[in-house]
Amino acid sequence: MSRKDTVAVGHMSGVPPSSSSSSSKMSYEDLYHKNQKPKVDCLIFDLDDTLYPLNSGIAAECLQNIRDYMVEKLWIEKSEVEELSNLLYKNYGTTMAGLRAIGYSFNYDDYHSFVHGRLHYEKLKPDPVLRHLLLNLPIRKVIFTNADRIHVAKALRKLGLEDCFQGIICFETLNEPNGEFFNERNLFDVLQHSVSPAPGVELPKTPVFCKPSEFAMEYALRLANIEPGRAIFFDDSVRNIQAAKGVGLRTVLVGSSHRIKGADFVLESIHNIREALSELREETDKSEDIVLRQSNIAAKTVTSVTA
Ligand SMILES: [Mg+2]
Repeated sequence: MSRKDTVAVGHMSGVPPSSSSSSSKMSYEDLYHKNQKPKVDCLIFDLDDTLYPLNSGIAAECLQNIRDYMVEKLWIEKSEVEELSNLLYKNYGTTMAGLRAIGYSFNYDDYHSFVHGRLHYEKLKPDPVLRHLLLNLPIRKVIFTNADRIHVAKALRKLGLEDCFQGIICFETLNEPNGEFFNERNLFDVLQHSVSPAPGVELPKTPVFCKPSEFAMEYALRLANIEPGRAIFFDDSVRNIQAAKGVGLRTVLVGSSHRIKGADFVLESIHNIREALSELREETDKSEDIVLRQSNIAAKTVTSVTA
């Protein structure tokens, strides 16, 4: 199966059905009828620690599972694992990408089933407020995560959000399945390199496509037919936000109250998504570039993006 074949888990249609009022929906459609492309036509969401809070405990479990995998499956010295995993995460975006770069090879499905398959998903609770918010945004919504598709499906189901997105870009979307375990004879000593890099020696490149690689992000956007200038990107990772900005997306850092370089807006919780949409609407309204209309539909927490 080609990478493109795995782009969508669910539909990748342009405009999703909406439970919003007919008037707001009509406004959106009116723009199409007038051949006026809406300035924002896609919202892109990270999954972990973005659609649910960091304090769920899932992130801590993941980290421990990764370290256990390194010891139990790759036979890395336990005393080195913490420093090595931190270093690889810092340099490659994910520990897995870093492990592959320095010469470890392993079956991706095996890795994911070890790291994600053992998570206590009962820690994730249904979030009807977020579900209501998402379903009432008549605009295409896509998940973009470095995690595997099984994890995405399980997490969305636990959160009660499985029908809120029109597409999913996940690990399998960007990476081909790989083979069995083997390690290069000469693993790259990244710990030594971090202390005293040899002259002219650079960190090896990873074969894994993932955020925050701008190359991987541009590839993902092309596969999902997302125009960066018309999309808003939500993520809890500062590096991912800055990379997203680098590829031309408008950005919202989630789970923080501190504005950082590269973030157009900051949200402490994804529940406040309408704050970000309103802010971005005001910015673009000033230049008469965008039509985003909020509607008080049913619950007062609902925002309707009409263009
Ligand atoms: Mg995240």
